[in-house]
Amino acid sequence: MKVNNVEMVISAVKPEQYPIDDLPEFALAGRSNVGKSSFINKMIGRKALARTSSKPGKTQTLNFYKIEEKLFFVDVPGYGYAKVSKSDRQAWGEMIERYITARNVLRAVILIVDLRHVPTNDDCMMYDFLKHYNIPTIVIATKADKIPKGKWDKHKKVVKETLDMDPNDPIIVFSSELGLGFDQAWNEIQKRM
Ligand code: GDP
Repeated sequence: MKVNNVEMVISAVKPEQYPIDDLPEFALAGRSNVGKSSFINKMIGRKALARTSSKPGKTQTLNFYKIEEKLFFVDVPGYGYAKVSKSDRQAWGEMIERYITARNVLRAVILIVDLRHVPTNDDCMMYDFLKHYNIPTIVIATKADKIPKGKWDKHKKVVKETLDMDPNDPIIVFSSELGLGFDQAWNEIQKRM
């Protein structure tokens, strides 16, 4: 999908602030620094609309981006940043749980992981949490440009097995640098709208 029109609608901390447009939503989750902002920017064709994280773990809000008046990307603050306090971590957990369990326009969570590495414990916990609440999940394995093409399939398999992925959930090899996986990612999103 070629995106021309994107509007950052609100940074919400509580349900009363969520948009009332009734459009399908796709939430984006991932470890801090995994490449989530770069993924969003690539998908919406902007250089820097979604902030790339200067302070990982600091943005404790859900950022709603309205795309083409058709859907929302909901940027969830990154997890797994070591220096976050216990109370911040708890607040993060409550915010995301509240959103995920109560939001009936949520169509899927797009979970961003790093294709180069075995998913972290936090990645596995996030995926398990989503499966616990039966949230369809699209896994994006990004930074593919950082490893040789011949290794992509092997790494993809490791990600799939480590997360113990539901066979109904797709996994897409992606690179924000190369634009690789762009069409496939939009295709999986549009299928669920
Ligand atoms: P976020 O914290 O998850 O939002 O991560 P960012 O999007 O800010 O990316 C973290 C770092 O990884 C930045 O230096 C990006 O330039 C880099 N990065 C993100 N995606 C890719 C990618 O697909 N390929 C490469 N080579 N670098 C990437």
